[in-house]
Amino acid sequence: MDRLEGKVAVVTGGARGIGRAISLRLARDGADIVTADINLAGAESVAEEVRSLGRSAIARQVDVTDEKQVEGLFADTMGEFGHVDIAVANAGIIVIAPMVDTSVADWQRLFDVNVTGVWFTCKFAAKPMIDRGAGGKIILAASAAGKIASTRAVGAYSTTKHAVIGITRSLGMELAKHKINVNAYCPGIVDTAMWDQIDREAGALAGFRPGELKEYTAGRVPLGRIEMPEDVANLVSFLASSDSDYMTGQAINITGGGVMH
Ligand code: NAD
Repeated sequence: MDRLEGKVAVVTGGARGIGRAISLRLARDGADIVTADINLAGAESVAEEVRSLGRSAIARQVDVTDEKQVEGLFADTMGEFGHVDIAVANAGIIVIAPMVDTSVADWQRLFDVNVTGVWFTCKFAAKPMIDRGAGGKIILAASAAGKIASTRAVGAYSTTKHAVIGITRSLGMELAKHKINVNAYCPGIVDTAMWDQIDREAGALAGFRPGELKEYTAGRVPLGRIEMPEDVANLVSFLASSDSDYMTGQAINITGGGVMH
């Protein structure tokens, strides 16, 4: 039997990149999927891909920085499916700038999406899980940048990801009595639009030509290749399954060996 048969998973930032790969992987594992993103067309297209795998899916336009919209997302999920078993707080953004040159507006926007948006998602996912009393899985997008500093002008982003690991630990402790596991994934250099932006903007700051920073950085990964969204989805599949029932409050590296603590 598919290991997530009968489960319902909500994935934020599900329209592309890592969130898309997670949505498709959890669907292959047997779950029905709610794809939430600020980009409705992208979310609809991923929901359609999920349906072509034989699972139910709905798409919702949600800005995770808006508390009411996130509350509505989980209300819609309950209305459509009657329960929520898995929530993946994946939506995130990056800003490339040295910390000393980061504007207040950029700093605030990063924290709004990467920290407050993740907290809203966790908060409104946890409530129906607690009420139902059947446990659940809350999975957060942190990053290798949540554990180490980088030379690539991503200090403010890195600070938000350290905060995501803080949410993971605090919420893991708080929700343990409800058998809700809260864990985070910490990817390295994943080949998505976000890393294209890093390549373009941080590469320019460091004097690289387009494409060079990505190639240079991926070339230094111990396992010898860039990470694919599906590599992250493989870990999330485990964290969403009962195989992770005895883990909570953990921030797991999936970096090809790039970070080892
Ligand atoms: P991406 O930019 O390709 O996709 C992010 C998705 O989030 C997009 O579909 C976007 O529309 C959506 N989004 C952005 N702001 C939103 C908002 N306010 N409300 C709802 N949706 C919103 O990024 P990705 O590379 O797939 O990254 C996914 C997550 O993984 C992010 O949290 C990112 O920080 C994290 N991560 C990525 C990498 C990497 O190398 N790409 C590494 C470590 C961690």
